[in-house]
Amino acid sequence: MDVLSTQGINQSPIWWDDVPRPNLFDRELPKTADVLVIGSGYTGLNAAIETSRSGRNTIVLDAEDAGWGCSSRNGGQISPEIKPSFQQLSSKYGETTAFDIMAEGHRAMAWLENFIRSEQIDCDYDTPGIFVGAHTPAQYEELAKELSVHPKGLEMPGHVIPRADQHNEIGTDAYFGGVVFDKSASVHPAKLHQGLLEKALAASATIIPHCRAIAINRDGDEFQVSTSKGIIRTREILIATNGYTKGISPWLQRRIIPIGSYMIATEPLPKALMDSLLPTNRNLGDTRKVIYYYRPSPDRTRIIFGGRVTGGETDPLVSAPLLFRDLVLLFPEIAKYKVSHSWMGFIAYTFDHLAHVGKHEGIHYAMGYCGSGIAMSCYFGTRIAQQLLGKPEGRTAFDKLNFQTRPFYKGNPWFLPAAVAYYRWRDQNR
Ligand SMILES: Cc1cc2nc3c(=O)[nH]c(=O)nc-3n(C[C@H](O)[C@H](O)[C@H](O)COP(=O)(O)OP(=O)(O)OC[C@H]3O[C@@H](n4cnc5c(N)ncnc54)[C@H](O)[C@@H]3O)c2cc1C
Repeated sequence: MDVLSTQGINQSPIWWDDVPRPNLFDRELPKTADVLVIGSGYTGLNAAIETSRSGRNTIVLDAEDAGWGCSSRNGGQISPEIKPSFQQLSSKYGETTAFDIMAEGHRAMAWLENFIRSEQIDCDYDTPGIFVGAHTPAQYEELAKELSVHPKGLEMPGHVIPRADQHNEIGTDAYFGGVVFDKSASVHPAKLHQGLLEKALAASATIIPHCRAIAINRDGDEFQVSTSKGIIRTREILIATNGYTKGISPWLQRRIIPIGSYMIATEPLPKALMDSLLPTNRNLGDTRKVIYYYRPSPDRTRIIFGGRVTGGETDPLVSAPLLFRDLVLLFPEIAKYKVSHSWMGFIAYTFDHLAHVGKHEGIHYAMGYCGSGIAMSCYFGTRIAQQLLGKPEGRTAFDKLNFQTRPFYKGNPWFLPAAVAYYRWRDQNR
């Protein structure tokens, strides 16, 4: 793909072609709310559904269009994954807490599936499993062990795919075999967001797009929040801004590491080619630390491919040829085709690689999903709302985790290019 061919690439997520950005009535900011939710992604909307259905006057603000952040930009792969391993969590918290933390990942996925089905949200939800390719022979051995390391109750059922059988899963010789994990679902991210938006509106939540929350001040039992559309008074606040958390809460900003994740979609490919490259509807990923994640589009016409191709943050027109170059390394057959869409979004990493949900100085928050947030953000959005409402079912195993920061860190991850370079080097040497 030469430089010129980036011309004409649509820099919006492919998902927005199917689900145009919500055209919400541009209304004035009310003067008061029972609950003010800042951020209208999956976290904010699930929380708003819960509080509205419990009779609380709930206002949701977004600085941009509703769902403009990760929740309409992601890859649509759902897993029960918690980033640290059971062994890592056990050595830090003991086996019981480690088990409880990891069980929340499984619970979140099951909860979301049940919610989508019971609320009849039309979002191309499917449960195809995931093929994880080993990028070295050593990683193939490691992957195979993964199938049996999970304790009882946290099993990750699946099966090994030797290299000789790999083409049944993926039309590439770039991997040294892999593993299919059954517990992986897929979704159309923007359809999921749209479905949640409709549920929130039906529950009488008010969504106000293009309204940035600028400052929060405590005033007796209440908060006074300054926004780009004026001031609102509220009894309760939930900050649901994840990778876009900035000055609204310096305390949270110091605990969130925003990292760009980049995606492309190919133009529609011939059916026979799609069937030979991606013979199943499975999600796909690999064993690299600087991971690639990809899948067929829900209508099986395109490949949707994501990853991190530069040390620092960049432009989708810069990332597009780099991602496409890496996709062609997997599938040389598609070199003559074009990229139709290229976009990015900011995920939220944390210093302990765990999401965090809780309350600081009277303000609730749920964020830090470390790139695997579809199920977690929906689940924790609901749980934090239940906590705010005083409902015991809102408790989670994450409530008591210390939300760490580092000395001098203020929200600008200056160390990222070095970390990416280190992990890329490790990927080449293990
Ligand atoms: C490219 C990409 C691919 C991904 N792929 C996957 C995947 O395959 N599987 C998976 O599980 N996860 C994936 N994720 C992560 C997942 O999308 C997120 O974890 C999840 O959507 C987080 O939802 P959220 O509601 O917490 O945050 P977001 O959806 O990011 O919403 C935060 C919102 O807050 C708003 N906001 C920020 N500041 C303010 C303010 N001051 N005032 C008002 N509004 C404000 C923003 O405009 C934004 O709309 C991916 C993310 C990206 C970017």
